[in-house]
Amino acid sequence: MTGFLITREHYSAKENTLAPCEEMLISELEGLLQNVDARSAIKGRSVSLKKAIAESISNSDRPASSRIRKLEKTSAFHENRLGNAGALFELDLQSECDKSCGHFHRVNAVLCLNNREAVGSNFLKLELAAQELIRYNNGQALTDENVLGVLVSLNKKVLTLGGWDPAYANSTDYTFAFSFAYSSMLRSRILALKLDII
Ligand SMILES: [Zn+2]
Repeated sequence: MTGFLITREHYSAKENTLAPCEEMLISELEGLLQNVDARSAIKGRSVSLKKAIAESISNSDRPASSRIRKLEKTSAFHENRLGNAGALFELDLQSECDKSCGHFHRVNAVLCLNNREAVGSNFLKLELAAQELIRYNNGQALTDENVLGVLVSLNKKVLTLGGWDPAYANSTDYTFAFSFAYSSMLRSRILALKLDII
């Protein structure tokens, strides 16, 4: 079994600026993605890949200190505002530190399994989720430093081997969109975990 190879790309979350808690949460997520049997997981495209990632998260034999427990659709809005707002406003994973750092850190992640038209939506979904958390923070004084958005994107080779439609966005599309369109619009800190395959 070979897991995904992962490369980080720091978009608005500058390199070497992650808090230790964020580094821990991101490393844990990377480890879970590396535990997915990549070739098998992409055979059924999005359905099988999501299932394989969900199983890696829920089945792994991890220490009690682990902060990532399940892949779960949650609203980017605070509480249940807009109720079932639909995929446009849903995150795939949220994890938080245990506050032993004396602060609070949240990681919001989106699996980027969409056509190119949705690239902007995925960036803005993370931006929205960050601003919602900062604005409706239940009394905690939070800033952009407390929230990290993660785009889990697929390199072109993964999409090709998995038989995805060519209209699906790959990691390069996300980098292009950030560089040429969204970098000046994003206040929140966002990075990408780009999945590749051997
Ligand atoms: Zn923390």
